[in-house]
Amino acid sequence: MSVLYDVEEEKKYVFTKKISCTNCGANFNDLRIMNSKLRRKEPDMDLRPRFQFVDSLKYGVTACPYCGFAAPVKSFEQLTSLHQKRIREKITSQFMQREPFAGETLDYATAQGQYELALVCAMVMELPLSEQAHLCLQLSWLIRGRLEEADAEQGLLDETTYKQLQEKQERYYRQAYDLFSKAFTQEDFPICGMDQHTFDYLLAVLSYHFKEYDVAVKFCGSIVQAKGISAKLKDKALMLKDEIMAAKKAEEEGQE
Ligand SMILES: [Zn+2]
Repeated sequence: MSVLYDVEEEKKYVFTKKISCTNCGANFNDLRIMNSKLRRKEPDMDLRPRFQFVDSLKYGVTACPYCGFAAPVKSFEQLTSLHQKRIREKITSQFMQREPFAGETLDYATAQGQYELALVCAMVMELPLSEQAHLCLQLSWLIRGRLEEADAEQGLLDETTYKQLQEKQERYYRQAYDLFSKAFTQEDFPICGMDQHTFDYLLAVLSYHFKEYDVAVKFCGSIVQAKGISAKLKDKALMLKDEIMAAKKAEEEGQE
């Protein structure tokens, strides 16, 4: 039977970090990834990062099993008193304590649960829309990884679950697109670490996915015309533009 990711291999990239929760003070072990050891592969068209042997995205969120506070690893330790108040009122007060995660590597289902909790926390804290959008995008990517794993390893997910995950993936993708589009009008660059051209490219891919071809072409156009940006991004935008034009033409011909 073929497997997409080998757990024994993945263990070599994972380490345990002792965490003291920023919200409730409880101690727990968090699984982290050794980013410096990872070997990058060509990302997906929408910039989803890919690495050899492990889907590092699974390890991107820290979630406290005691109080329900969850956030991207980088921001878990930065909790303002206002945010803490909101988390305590709306999350912790209803959160059912869990057994701390005891595995040596994270499976997709657990990681997805942690990201979903982080998204709810981000909404409750009223974080900038781009940060909420980024979590939606990552959730969609995470489910893509989960489905790829299921494609490689038959019997991992039953048909109903597979279908539900496909729908969920699409919903998070749409939510990411809507929130990023709003963030674009409200926030300054860099947005989620992206400069304007990278952001334009991402929005081009997303609008293309949702068949908003004219919007997608506009975003590609602004990248192609921009000066002083990486040739690689320009090439990607050109290729994408061709693809969008072909899809648009095919759709128009289909309507005639
Ligand atoms: Zn906690």
